[in-house]
Amino acid sequence: MLDSLLGDATQRLADALRHTRVSEDTLERLQHPKSVLKVSIPVRMDDGRLQTFRGYRVRYDDSRGPTKGGIRYHPDVDVDEVATLAFWMTIKCAVLDLPYGGGKGGITVDPKQLSKLELERLSRGYIDAIADFIGPDVDIPAPDVYTNPLIMGWMADEYSVIQRRHTPAVITGKPLALGGSKGRDTATADGGFDVIQALRGKLLADRDHPTVAVQGFGNAGATIALLLHEAGYRVVAVSDSQGGVYAKEGLHIPSVVRVKEESRRVQAVYCEGSVCNLVPHERLSSDELLGLDVDLLVPAALENAITEANVGQVKARVILEIANGPINSAADHALADRGVTVIPDVLANAGGVTVSYFEWVQNRTGLYWTAEEVRTRLRERMVTEAERLWGYATERGIPLRTAAYAQALERIGEAVDAKGTKELYAAQ
Ligand code: NAD
Repeated sequence: MLDSLLGDATQRLADALRHTRVSEDTLERLQHPKSVLKVSIPVRMDDGRLQTFRGYRVRYDDSRGPTKGGIRYHPDVDVDEVATLAFWMTIKCAVLDLPYGGGKGGITVDPKQLSKLELERLSRGYIDAIADFIGPDVDIPAPDVYTNPLIMGWMADEYSVIQRRHTPAVITGKPLALGGSKGRDTATADGGFDVIQALRGKLLADRDHPTVAVQGFGNAGATIALLLHEAGYRVVAVSDSQGGVYAKEGLHIPSVVRVKEESRRVQAVYCEGSVCNLVPHERLSSDELLGLDVDLLVPAALENAITEANVGQVKARVILEIANGPINSAADHALADRGVTVIPDVLANAGGVTVSYFEWVQNRTGLYWTAEEVRTRLRERMVTEAERLWGYATERGIPLRTAAYAQALERIGEAVDAKGTKELYAAQ
């Protein structure tokens, strides 16, 4: 079933299909991406050469609304990866009950090898190539790996130039001055925090100060570490790509954030830094962090951090997936067998796409919300869906991820079936 999709996505769908019924029509619709665009982007490089890059945009399914999903710049980007990520976005938008389907885009490029001007020409060239494929009512891109508000601003501007009208709602994650939303920069961590707080009484009720380890100290990881610290959790370990720090009594996260910010060498389109230069602490590797005996583990770095190779070392009671796909399906089953609760990425990190939705709403109405309004609406949405999913999972005795996929399938199925089913036509 659904063998056009890459491995893990297929496995998760198969798990979900054991616990819910969706129509044949829905499964047929989800077998294949709705449309796949492959483009060549010729870019004038700084030395005068013309270099052509490959780009993609996939609209996986738009049964519930226009497709929505980020644009990734990475040397490994290919059409299969983009299609799989577009499928994940279809599920994520349905889990949060956003009026969107799923899409994704990407360019096969190592952006760190380009100058800023080359990066701008590439970004504008990509929009020139896909302009007929996107639009506020059709397909709405956003940032993903190695793309950011600056790049979204160039892209939205290019689209407006092509359309000869101001169209900020075509892309989200823009700078505030170009129609971005307040709260977008911290939305992923804010949403993840809302989810764990909503489920804290069910999962960590016996702990006054639950211990936490956070892998990945970037935008999402550092912000959620700070929020958890402020809410009385004891964050004992954090790591970035250069290593980690550990303090049994808990790290003072505001200081870690400050040192990380100060130690950045470049604060331009891309930033680097390390949390290793801190006192007082012990050093540990990112792998050692994953094996700490903590109440809550937060993978917030890359995909496949926990696989069958290291799942045996994981001792955490609860895992909050802020990264996309940090646990593969084999490890997922092992964790479920051991009674570890995994709060899946499609819920835990969906604060970002939710505030992207708010940005799109603000662009379309022309009425801009305060930071408090954004925060309140995000909390309401995250808590409602977290509690709904918890109820769905506990009623059926299934893991939260399986519940999330099952509920998403049901919501997509409702939209597909509302246009007519096999039974409806057979009854004529
Ligand atoms: P980022 O680039 O700001 O941060 C990534 C962090 O991970 C960096 O601190 C990096 O040093 C660290 N890292 C890389 N390899 C590591 C390793 N082996 N061990 C430990 N740390 C390592 O990225 P981000 O925006 O914070 O995104 C992090 C994850 O969250 C990604 O999986 C991303 O897809 C997911 N996510 C982010 C958002 C968002 O809005 N930022 C939304 C949804 C999902």
